Amino acid sequence: MRTVPTILHLDMDAFYASAEQASKPSLRGKAVVVGGLGPRGVVATASYEARAFGVHSAMPMAQARRLAPNAAYLVPRFGFYREISEQVMGLLRTLSPLVEPLSLDEAFVDLEAGGVAWDEESARLTGERLRADIRAVTGLTGSVGLAASKMLAKIASEEAKPDGLVLIRPGTERALLGPMPVRTLPGVGPATGDHLRRAGITTVDEIAEAGEDELVRLLGKAHGHGLYAMALAHDERPVVAEREAKSVSVEDTYDVDLHDRLRIGLEVQRLADRCVRRLREAGLSGRTIVLKVRRYDFSTLTRSDTLRGPTDDPAVVREATARLLESVDTTGGVRLLGVGVSGLADYTQEDLFAQARLATGEAPGEEPPQPPQTSQPPQTSQAESADEPAEEEPAPAERIWRAGHDVRHAEYGHGWVQGSGLGRVTVRFETPDSPPGRVRTFRTDDPRLVPADPLPLVPREPGESETGEPEAPGPPPTAPTGAGTDDGSR
Ligand SMILES: [Mg+2]
Repeated sequence: MRTVPTILHLDMDAFYASAEQASKPSLRGKAVVVGGLGPRGVVATASYEARAFGVHSAMPMAQARRLAPNAAYLVPRFGFYREISEQVMGLLRTLSPLVEPLSLDEAFVDLEAGGVAWDEESARLTGERLRADIRAVTGLTGSVGLAASKMLAKIASEEAKPDGLVLIRPGTERALLGPMPVRTLPGVGPATGDHLRRAGITTVDEIAEAGEDELVRLLGKAHGHGLYAMALAHDERPVVAEREAKSVSVEDTYDVDLHDRLRIGLEVQRLADRCVRRLREAGLSGRTIVLKVRRYDFSTLTRSDTLRGPTDDPAVVREATARLLESVDTTGGVRLLGVGVSGLADYTQEDLFAQARLATGEAPGEEPPQPPQTSQPPQTSQAESADEPAEEEPAPAERIWRAGHDVRHAEYGHGWVQGSGLGRVTVRFETPDSPPGRVRTFRTDDPRLVPADPLPLVPREPGESETGEPEAPGPPPTAPTGAGTDDGSR
């Protein structure tokens, strides 16, 4: 592990909700909840004002509505968030070739690899400058964690929230981690947390005291071993450049949670086969096998294993996923399973699991949300309350006005849909740089009302594109490969 705090973790503050508040002046300072509004919808992001009522991401939407009945409930606008995300990721890439996005609003950056930081002072300076740049370019705030490992950098950014920076001095990690609850460690969800608590283990220090053998006995070999290392603040995982995080994946959501371990195993095998079929159809192979498990309580785990060489062999993928499943606690039930293969060469798919998720009809939770990709259609199409497809086809036969989406009225100008029903649609007319606007109601088939693109949050400088069109995507980042990015060091 390095001895300087040059791994940076950036996490935008309440990203989707903050973007909506910046976009809609009437929602600033108010409780805003963004997520799936369908029957199984979950909260993707809650604004800090909504969090004060106890609403948090991954919570069932029905529960959020009970806690904060007067909050604004909005459907995510992934296209809009993705544009902001690209601006943020662009800023990160000016710091280092090693940028590892975890979601639209979260990424690790290896500052040392970029030559922009080499000690505590330069790291802190780079982090503060980044925060200022993000604010200037996007109008939004992000929190920065700096540490000598990915795990600690992420813990630091969490401590920094909202709108702050925390640097963890190398050497102080164990003292800092010790009193923290076990849930602080990556991979400890509510189920594992409960399991440990029943064994009398509630803090990170108590994990370290219990010893490795006890952890393995409680949680199985892979999980117990990994968790013990994390409790000692040992985390050697390198920051992996985006290019190497490309993947092919499939996933399924189950109507009824799966409890039977045997059945779960069979489902994982089936997904492994399906994933390999997709891989082969695309003429690809990959080195890293990923298993994703969302449990009954919406906590989501991913486990991965990197092979010595790339594979598209179903037997190898099946075996690897079965091994990964062994390290996952499925007590309480499983509502979603996914299998992915990443580490692909020359492959342009944007992200793991995203396309499958579009078909689940749920908004993603924040842990770990991933940008939807659009180059291929979703594999199944029960996308009833999924948000992206509607955005791709803005003119359904029967006009559906989605809460939170932008519109333009021939007479009143730019606004957003506040609600609709019974043949009426309510629109609030305001823009990011206007004062809070007025509400007007129209018939849903009013020909003067049309869907509109989101307006930029920060006015564009003269000389920049004024069409409101997103910039043409640039060439792929020219990350040097090999430079310490081999993730096979497990
Ligand atoms: Mg965030």
